[in-house]
Amino acid sequence: MNPNNMRIGHGYDVHRFESAYVDAKPLTLAGVVLADQLSLVAHSDGDVILHAICDAILGALGEGDIGRHFPDTDPTFAGAASTDLVEQVLVMMDARQLYLVNVDITVIAEVPKLTPHRVNMISSLANLLELPEQRVNLKATTTEGLGAIGRKEGIACAAVVLLAGNA
Ligand code: MG
Repeated sequence: MNPNNMRIGHGYDVHRFESAYVDAKPLTLAGVVLADQLSLVAHSDGDVILHAICDAILGALGEGDIGRHFPDTDPTFAGAASTDLVEQVLVMMDARQLYLVNVDITVIAEVPKLTPHRVNMISSLANLLELPEQRVNLKATTTEGLGAIGRKEGIACAAVVLLAGNA
């Protein structure tokens, strides 16, 4: 690792819950489908964690944001699996000979409770990002009932990544 070639990136995303469960859009977080009977409003699968990670990596690369690369006005990305979006962002990272050092994620939500899914979500993220699980940290917090998240209207996620290069 070259200490002169390190980049930090931050990403943040929010998605609103649908008013009723949508069969075609089960709640998907970190690439894991959660059987919580909740759906998020989204052009893609609405994986708020993966979107925050994409934005964090794009930020570290100085490549703008997810909306610039995968516009929600483009029918190509309608119903897109966010795992595919992450993979495309990882290709951009590889092309610059940078690799992920670690990822730190904070989910902000009143519902669903993530504890029962934490192990699966970490494993999914480690697989997708090709990182050891110890380098993928997933935290969850609520807003103590305050604001839209507190009213259970949606889910927010913040992610920070560190990238490094060997050269
Ligand atoms: Mg999003």
